[in-house]
Amino acid sequence: MNIVLLGAPGAGKGTQGDILAGKLGVSKIATGDLLRAAVKEGTPLGKQAQEYMNKGELVPDDVILGIVEEKLASRDAAKGVIMDGFPRTIAQAEAVDDLLSARGSRVDKVVTFDVPDGELVIRMLGRAQVDGRSDDTPDTIRKRLEVYRSETAPLISYYKRQSVVTSIDATGTIDDVAGRVESALADL
Ligand code: ADP
Repeated sequence: MNIVLLGAPGAGKGTQGDILAGKLGVSKIATGDLLRAAVKEGTPLGKQAQEYMNKGELVPDDVILGIVEEKLASRDAAKGVIMDGFPRTIAQAEAVDDLLSARGSRVDKVVTFDVPDGELVIRMLGRAQVDGRSDDTPDTIRKRLEVYRSETAPLISYYKRQSVVTSIDATGTIDDVAGRVESALADL
């Protein structure tokens, strides 16, 4: 079962993705986490990605596809994966469709996380104080929301054409949202 969690930065995909991966016993592919690990290790990939991330821009598709291709093709992923923060552009979504269909699989469900912009900003500013992410500054947050609207939100229509989208209200407690995610997946 392949599930995409789609939503603006700060919508809670990471938290819910971890909960869901635990419940379903499948792995989670979170490109933001993979990139942050590469930045921390100071790898060439990390150095390249950091500039984009600090500006709130997207890391180029070929770089992202380079890091996820192997993971999507792994034996472990054959059981299904939860994609968090990926795909983020139409080109990435098309690449995922190609990779999955090559092994007779597909994106089974896309859960979109709805949170009002004001709340997203409050959450990200709060997170900045807790774990000091270098891209959680007011200017970068604004830019990331803008990039989400222009580059990533169009994926909702893309997946609607495949009839796999369920939208949930992602405000409330973590447990509230986890319950809604579970209901969204009930028909799988
Ligand atoms: P958030 O969803 O809170 O913005 P992420 O941790 O998913 O955070 O991503 C942080 C940054 O990493 C993004 O702003 C972007 O620069 C980069 N990034 C992560 N995933 C992708 C992706 N699939 N494509 C392009 N850039 C990405």
